[in-house]
Amino acid sequence: MKVMGLIGGMSWNSTLEYYRIINELFAQRLGGLHSARLILYSLDFDEIERAQREARWDDAAHILVEASTALKQAGADFLVICTNTMHRVADVVAEKSSLPLLHIVDVTGNAIRERGMNCIGLLGSRFVMKEAFYRERLQKQFAIEVLVPEEDDMVVVDRIIYDELCRGRTKAASRRTCADVISRLVGRGAEGIVLGCTELPLLVRSGDIAVPIFDTTRLHAEAAVNLALAEG
Ligand code: GLU
Repeated sequence: MKVMGLIGGMSWNSTLEYYRIINELFAQRLGGLHSARLILYSLDFDEIERAQREARWDDAAHILVEASTALKQAGADFLVICTNTMHRVADVVAEKSSLPLLHIVDVTGNAIRERGMNCIGLLGSRFVMKEAFYRERLQKQFAIEVLVPEEDDMVVVDRIIYDELCRGRTKAASRRTCADVISRLVGRGAEGIVLGCTELPLLVRSGDIAVPIFDTTRLHAEAAVNLALAEG
C-alpha cells in the first residue's frame, strides 16, 4: 500500500471531505478497521489566497514546493494537491518534489470521457474558469469542449467560494444561485457540470440539477485510493 501525501488546507473545509472520503473508501475496499496511510500537510490558506489575489503565483508555488518536499522526506509515495485552483502550479510542484502527482484535471477528464461526454460546463474559482491552465488541459488532452459562465455569473460563483464556502458557510440562496448559473450552462449545451472547486460539492447536490455532476473532490479522492492500493 502506497503512502499518500496530501497538500491541504485550501481550504480546510474541503480537506476534511478528502480525509473522510479516502478513509471511507479504504474501509469499504479492505474491510475491518482499515484506514488510509497518509500524510497531510495543511497550509495556512490566508497566505495562499493573498498570493493568488496579488498574482504572486511563484510565491504560492514556493509554499507548495516546501510542503511537497516535507511530505517526501516524511515518506509520501505520491502527491495529491487538494484543490483545483492550485493546480495552476502543479507542474512546478511535481518537478521540484520529484514525486508523482495525481493531477485533478486528468482524473476529471478521464471521468468525463468515461461518460462519453464532449461538452461540459465548468464552475470554480475565477482562476479555474478564466485562465487557460484548467480549460486547456481538458480541451487539448481530452478533447472536451469547456463552457464557462458569463462574466457576471463568474463573479458571483467566485464570491460564493471565497466568502462563504472557504469559511464553512453554506447558504440556501447561494445554492439556488449556483443552480441558476448551471441551468444557463446547460441551456448553452453543457452535457454535464464539473464542480471544479473542491468546496462546491458542499453546496451543490446532484439532485439540484438536470445533468450529471463531476464532483472533483470525490473523483480525486477515489483516484488517490486507487493509486494507493494499486500493485507495484
Ligand atoms: N478549493 C478551491 C478549489 O478547488 C478553491 C480554493 C483555492 O483557491 O485553492 O479551487
